[in-house]
Amino acid sequence: MKTVQLQTTADIVNNAQRAGLMIPAFNVPYLPMVEPLIRAVVDQDCFALIEVARLEWIKFEAQSPAAVMAEFVKWNEPDYVRIHLDHVPVIDEDNQRVDFLAIIREAIELGYHSVMVDGSRLDLEENIKATRQVVEMAHQAGLPCEAELGAVLGHEAGPLPPYEDLFESGLGFTDIQEAERFVRESGCDWLSVAIGNIHGAVSGVLKDKKKVEARLNLDHLDRLREATCTPLVLHGGSGVKREHLLAAIKKGIAKVNIGTEIRQAYESALRESGNVIAAQDAVYERTCWLIRDYFGLAGSRRLVK
Ligand SMILES: [Zn+2]
Repeated sequence: MKTVQLQTTADIVNNAQRAGLMIPAFNVPYLPMVEPLIRAVVDQDCFALIEVARLEWIKFEAQSPAAVMAEFVKWNEPDYVRIHLDHVPVIDEDNQRVDFLAIIREAIELGYHSVMVDGSRLDLEENIKATRQVVEMAHQAGLPCEAELGAVLGHEAGPLPPYEDLFESGLGFTDIQEAERFVRESGCDWLSVAIGNIHGAVSGVLKDKKKVEARLNLDHLDRLREATCTPLVLHGGSGVKREHLLAAIKKGIAKVNIGTEIRQAYESALRESGNVIAAQDAVYERTCWLIRDYFGLAGSRRLVK
């Protein structure tokens, strides 16, 4: 009997980059979001990642990598979705050291299909060193590893400087030469870059606010792609100016993380109705809309798989 090998997540993200498409990665701060997310991806005939970041089990209700995996397995559609471990910071948004290797090792043992280490709060040498350790662990398990260079701000508790000042000054943007060296020496498979994108706030009253509309420096992205020759990842995918986002996908952004937009859909429906099913419906509707109308990825699965 012929066994059909599942295509790896690494292949799928490479295919997306080659086709000028991207793989959306949906964040899960609340466990009941997993089911409607997967249903929306299947109904739109798209391919996507379901992902959880450390702060989603620390500051929200995702509980643990094991809890998200258990929920994922319940609804899993392997032809449509894979599960990714998002941001495990070496130093977190509150400036605390994190035992990142233990968390990532656990996720790999749980069966996650890809992982991310975030050493972006370290200096270049330290970031390369930490990322290299995770890359070796992930590659031994046959999994791709995402890393971050530059500062995708927004998760920190304090207020951000005015967005226009950030964008104009290029403060925190991923440096071109550093990116070339970082990818070569760390061996990371996917690189999360800072080109004007920001994360949605996660603390205090700010977490319910509409995100500022971010712009992207597309020339900078061109130079990063040339320098790294690897799939690039855009974090903070909610609320980026649409023309910029679509142009960035054509220019090599092969994975886009979407957190704030679907989290706020879930939270506001739950607040208004007090009903988890209504909140799940809101996530389903918003995710279908994002895939179909915003990103234009309905029916794109056959192009990446
Ligand atoms: Zn992120």
